[in-house]
Amino acid sequence: MNQLDMMATRDVLTRVLTRKRFFELGEPLFNASGSELYVLMIDIDYLKKINDQYGHDVGDIVLKTVANVIKDVLPPDAIFGRMGGKDFSVMYTAQTHEVSMDIVSDILKTVAETRIPLKDGSAVSCTISIGIGRKYPEFNSLGSLLQEADITLCQAKESGRNTSIFRDR
Ligand code: C2E
Repeated sequence: MNQLDMMATRDVLTRVLTRKRFFELGEPLFNASGSELYVLMIDIDYLKKINDQYGHDVGDIVLKTVANVIKDVLPPDAIFGRMGGKDFSVMYTAQTHEVSMDIVSDILKTVAETRIPLKDGSAVSCTISIGIGRKYPEFNSLGSLLQEADITLCQAKESGRNTSIFRDR
């Protein structure tokens, strides 16, 4: 892949997929999958506070680090994109529901345990909230499944953050 193609498909700050590329790769996976498909909406808790306290550069480092940490925990064939400022989305297929929930737990735990060193010798850490959507028959488009994950993400935020929510059907 040349530099220009790379720039079109990867977010400049975090190097994960752009929103556009996420959809380009995600739509075919959605269409080819059944209820083994999961979508996560991930949001960094209190990033604005980190920016306010330590500065925007540190906020950027937090964004980059969180993206790297999540990438390392995901199955190798997962689709991982930055959807907006501090929002990420993931799509993957899992053999069982338990496997999928283990992936979510690993992401939450690993991010919360990560200490991000600062220039002055101190360190900062952060947590994330995760909304989970599973491709049940009522979700007939990737957009509707992402909407479900968005709703459960809001519930995760409302229930105190650093957690995930899944609504079984
Ligand atoms: P904020 O800068 O006060 O932005 C609040 C919300 O305004 C953002 O929510 C987003 O919905 C919108 N917004 C701000 N700037 C832009 C923009 O250039 N384009 C568009 N389309 N929308 C914009 P969001 O994304 O959830 O971000 C919440 C907070 O997270 C931000 O507050 C900021 O403190 C932090 N944040 C977001 N992106 C970055 C980033 O790339 N680097 C750093 N260091 N912080 C970020």
